[in-house]
Amino acid sequence: MDTTTAGREQIEERLREACGLDTPWALVERFSTLVRLAGSEQEREAVAYVMGELDRLGVPYTLHTPVRYISWPLGATLRTLGGDPLVARPKTVSFSVSTGGVEREGDLVHLSTGYAEDATSLFDLGEVGDVDVRGKVVITEGIPIETKVAEITRRGAIAAIFAGQGTRIHEGICSDVWGSPDLESLRRYPAIPLLAINEPDGQALIERARRGGCRVALSTDVDTRWREIPVLVAEIQGATVPDEFVLVHGHLDSWHVGVGDNATGDATLLELARVFHQFRSQLARSIRIAWWSGHSQGRFAGSGWYADAFAIDLAENCVAHVNCDSPGCRWATEYRDVPWTEEAGPVATAAVRVATGEPVTRARASRAGDWSFNNLGLSGLFMLSSSMPESVRVEKGYYAVGGCGGNIEWHTEDDTLEIADRDVLLRDIRVYATAGWRLATAPVPELDFRLTLDEMGRTLTGYQVIAGERFDLGRADADLAALRADLDYFYRRLDEQDLTDAADPVARRASLVQRKLARILLPVHNARLGRFRQDPADVSPPLPELEVVRRLAAAEAGSDVAQAARISLERGLNRLIWALRRADEVVTGAGVVVA
Ligand SMILES: [Zn+2]
Repeated sequence: MDTTTAGREQIEERLREACGLDTPWALVERFSTLVRLAGSEQEREAVAYVMGELDRLGVPYTLHTPVRYISWPLGATLRTLGGDPLVARPKTVSFSVSTGGVEREGDLVHLSTGYAEDATSLFDLGEVGDVDVRGKVVITEGIPIETKVAEITRRGAIAAIFAGQGTRIHEGICSDVWGSPDLESLRRYPAIPLLAINEPDGQALIERARRGGCRVALSTDVDTRWREIPVLVAEIQGATVPDEFVLVHGHLDSWHVGVGDNATGDATLLELARVFHQFRSQLARSIRIAWWSGHSQGRFAGSGWYADAFAIDLAENCVAHVNCDSPGCRWATEYRDVPWTEEAGPVATAAVRVATGEPVTRARASRAGDWSFNNLGLSGLFMLSSSMPESVRVEKGYYAVGGCGGNIEWHTEDDTLEIADRDVLLRDIRVYATAGWRLATAPVPELDFRLTLDEMGRTLTGYQVIAGERFDLGRADADLAALRADLDYFYRRLDEQDLTDAADPVARRASLVQRKLARILLPVHNARLGRFRQDPADVSPPLPELEVVRRLAAAEAGSDVAQAARISLERGLNRLIWALRRADEVVTGAGVVVA
């Protein structure tokens, strides 16, 4: 194994050149004929196809079949009552209340929440109008998302209709319960029937609601139950430090035939399995490649299950996870708003730059997309990757969607073969291959936790501005500075060692230090709940427990909310300082690495 930097770069170049389209494109074509609802027969056919390919390639794998909570939306109806009847063409969503196909009636009222401006604001609540909706059927803008449903339910509506944009109706899921429920989250599912309609139907109904006196009848038919779902995990063993591993993953289930979301991602994973297996003698760490079910109709049930079932293994040995969702779509030539945890920035940006020559911009990961490993504290890269430039989107008159590279066929019957693009797919495969390869072969994974600390510092500064005189976050400053200085020393010493072998005891120790830093710092930075639980699929600000400064700033001085917010902040600050000190112990106790 040539482990010098130049040698590794040469092998990496050969790896990218070895990436092709024969194996992945055949998968895309096969999957374009399969409606892969989680736990369905056609999804099983898709899994069998991938297993057949892995057999052909000689890649070892395990098929798990956990039982998880899955919800299939089957149908819905919606019509106005009285004169001049209007019959809309609705869909319902995963985890809507099912009326069992029986109509429920109510007065229609319009509650304005507005449309998302771009893909990053797709899951925001928006400006909510001030209307009494008690006992009414609400019609509002956008797609059925938890934040809006929770607000509408809290205000006492008996059902909600979401008027989307365009002529298509996007399928979706509406529950903030991540993966499957535990006893705590079991009661958090939607409590009212939910419908989605397209823009023309929506405009007509909003018009009638505004006029007043409009009564509607609606029904939903949703099949929600515990189902066996497939989770397929291939493993290519590392040659020198096989216990350390990189997890590369994406979802296999879909809405309809889901070509751009996510047959292209499944194809990418298969091609990665092929080339990583081909280059396995040069692989230091192991690479696990996972195809999850339960993403679309189970709110990340497959990856959530894996986070539970392999929690200790992931927490101890996983170097980083790399998520692959909706790559390889037409017109998606730009890498914009791509997520990664801060310390993974060097790998993420280099992978895009080296594989494509394009720049990449980052967006903080939303609490979505099979990032089921935030509570465990894993470093992560990518979710969506390439997307169409904003100028192309505007020129086409497209609105914001959450996948398919920005193609508005996302989550509809029209996400078919023409959404995939061979050139874009090959380019994205090379991006993922480069990222996975670097993490698995660098003597020490190129993760720089100074970047994480710097972002924590910027976040604290921003929160202090919001809090103003009301709360002092400065108590963490000294610990933040101390850890930052010790990390500087750690990375300087690491550079001086000029390590070439991942099996070198110093490299092993440094890699372990990084994993420990991730487990200590990342949960505080990215999650509210405990390590072995799952935060809701909700907005996820940095240092979420300290984002309470917004509540404090909005609260009336001296009110219960203001007082309680201060207590929350005190506790959040304690959690942060505790983590910073434990992280510093890890860095300064690293022996050989830090003298
Ligand atoms: Zn997807």
